[in-house]
Amino acid sequence: MSYQQPALPYSENALEPHITAHTIGFHYGKHHAAYVTNYNNLVAGTPFDSQSIEDVIAATANDPAKTGIFNNGAQAWNHSFYWNSLSPNGGGTPSGALATKIDEDFGSFEKFAEELKTAAATQFGSGWAWLVSDNGTLKVVKTGNAQTPLTAGQIPLLCIDVWEHAYYLDYQNRRPDYVAATIAHLLNWEFAEANYQTTK
Ligand code: FE
Repeated sequence: MSYQQPALPYSENALEPHITAHTIGFHYGKHHAAYVTNYNNLVAGTPFDSQSIEDVIAATANDPAKTGIFNNGAQAWNHSFYWNSLSPNGGGTPSGALATKIDEDFGSFEKFAEELKTAAATQFGSGWAWLVSDNGTLKVVKTGNAQTPLTAGQIPLLCIDVWEHAYYLDYQNRRPDYVAATIAHLLNWEFAEANYQTTK
């Protein structure tokens, strides 16, 4: 039961000018594809082959002998989640129940956005910034390298990839500019709202 890289939910140039087709071509077509290929090669012929990728991520998260499977599996999953966290029609502010919950748990959307920007900017080295539901409370968290909130029992609602490969071709060292543009123009609040509904 190999893991299939999901189709990109929009065309490679759909997120321009904020993220270019050049970046997406490498990021989706090379980096994400390689994680998926590596993961499938590593689990082939092992008992993990018959398990869902989420179960394999959980089973290998704290096993030093399985770091290759964990790193590639978690990166395959995180990237699939990242593509859905972005939309050509994204950005702005959420609506409905999620908007109310963000106001409750962060004080305001602006405070949430600041917290997400800070998490993304201060993740030292490679990693991810996330909006998650943690036992019913919304939180911003950051994870290093391939780490994923799934293994902390948190339910991801949205994520931003802050590995250099996510922005270097377009923004070079200006990670905060990539993050600000992503929050302002690309975050897919319909996807976040759908994920939030599963937590209730
Ligand atoms: Fe990435």
